Amino acid sequence: MTPQGTSLIGQQAVTGDQAVIRAIDPSSGEALAPEYPGLDRQAVARACELAETAYATYRESSLEDRAAFLEAIAAEIEALGDDLITRGMAETGLPRARLEGERGRTCGQLRLFASVVRAGEWLDVRLDPALPERQPMPRVDLRQRHVALGPVAVFGASNFPLAFSVAGGDSASALAAGCPVVVKAHSAHPGTSELVGRAVQKAVADCGLPEGVFSVLFGAGREVGQALVADPHIQAVGFTGSRSGGLALQQTARNRPQPIPVYAEMSSINPVFLLPEALKARGREIAEGFVGSVNMGAGQFCTNPGLVIGVKGEALDAFLKAAGEAIQGSAAQTMLTPGIHAAYQDGVGALAGEAREIARGPVGEGPHQCQTALFAARGADFLKSEALQAEVFGAASLVIECDDLAEVKAVAEHLEGQLTATLQLDDGDLGAARTLLPVLERKAGRVLANGWPTGVEVCHAMVHGGPFPATSDSRSTSVGSAAIQRFLRPVCYQNLPQGLLPEALQDGNPLGVTRLVDGKRE
Ligand code: NAP
Repeated sequence: MTPQGTSLIGQQAVTGDQAVIRAIDPSSGEALAPEYPGLDRQAVARACELAETAYATYRESSLEDRAAFLEAIAAEIEALGDDLITRGMAETGLPRARLEGERGRTCGQLRLFASVVRAGEWLDVRLDPALPERQPMPRVDLRQRHVALGPVAVFGASNFPLAFSVAGGDSASALAAGCPVVVKAHSAHPGTSELVGRAVQKAVADCGLPEGVFSVLFGAGREVGQALVADPHIQAVGFTGSRSGGLALQQTARNRPQPIPVYAEMSSINPVFLLPEALKARGREIAEGFVGSVNMGAGQFCTNPGLVIGVKGEALDAFLKAAGEAIQGSAAQTMLTPGIHAAYQDGVGALAGEAREIARGPVGEGPHQCQTALFAARGADFLKSEALQAEVFGAASLVIECDDLAEVKAVAEHLEGQLTATLQLDDGDLGAARTLLPVLERKAGRVLANGWPTGVEVCHAMVHGGPFPATSDSRSTSVGSAAIQRFLRPVCYQNLPQGLLPEALQDGNPLGVTRLVDGKRE
């Protein structure tokens, strides 16, 4: 299938008449066909109206129908075959193996949500039967379930053109919850977005669902993205991208006559704590693992380890030497977009102004290539400087040399909110780790030991979230089955006759889902 340059509003392919978007092949700097003329506000409103119409029936679609729809999307994405992979490679500079892996992750994620929908746990059914004889007051019959919030706006991420874009985690979890989705496609990979959008469009038609369940809109974020979040039919927003973009959309959502939740994943530097015994025993091995993690995907992972903290001394010096050598041997890699490359250059320039350079990788031969970089600074300087905590999106990292473990803890306490925090530890470090853990739990959505934060499993226990600025709402995750919770809200039904109750709440449990009855799980 070849991309046509159109937005997809329900089952229609729509050509916009506003400023044109064209993908750039970041490995050559060439503009790619076709052009994507942006939509106007009326077209955005039309997609949202269709989503609202679809919401009335889609939100009450049966568990089986909704699960089958998610599975159909996965099958349609797979059916795009190599056209999707080659287009993705051209638009992002990402290698084939990475995109094939990401396609597997995307389809696996959709199938995971299909199994979640079928199991029905997300309905969180609670029944408190009437107690007419209770003294001193009788209790009425109370039954609770969760319902879909309404149409959801999804902003595709640049750094995961499949797994966090048009049919990625935000869309899959919103559709699983029973929410129609209107996607603002990322301008960096429009062809990939259109192809995936067409796969979803076909799944909607084949499953006999109302067309407004899914739309994909092209246009500049300021016009189309802002109009989408401001549209009165939209009830929640999923976003992955820059801090400034996430905050701008949150502001728009707050300024609406009816404010709505924005689940924005924005900025994290993912601190790694090198505890003394581990550093002494296996500093070189840790350095190699660290540089591998920094370089993964040219550092364009939201979980990239951008900060390392240790106590100064021989062991940390040896770590810096080994990491520096590995950095010098790290080949330059093409970044996702010219804009992201320019932001990386600026970020590294800012670090160079504030910290000591340890090593840089070779300069790339092609355009928009990321030259890996490692810097170091003293703990006392980190505690004074805001600039040293800024996310540098790409393969750069900063090592903080602390005077002692007390300063390590002070650095941890000084950190902004993070997606992850990692402890490199051995048995002799458990005491130090116990001191840090309560601090790290308050700072991060995921705490790891002896691994690397890049690599986020899609499963039931995963938390890909964290306090601001990692995300705009620390109570949620954007990866894993718990992501569905973002797009649900509880409704309590008091004394409703059986015939009026939703199936999930009726006597006899016709859906066969787990229920909390009078406080006991059944
Ligand atoms: P971005 O600039 O925030 O863009 C993300 C999406 O939001 C795009 O669709 C964009 O529209 C839209 N958008 C941006 N600002 C907006 C605004 N004020 N109003 C409405 N919509 C808006 O992110 P990016 O292009 O992916 O990358 C830029 C930087 O973001 C990177 O250099 C990096 O620092 C950061 N980033 C962080 C993560 C992370 O996970 N932490 C991931 C990716 C990027 P357009 O398509 O029109 O641009």
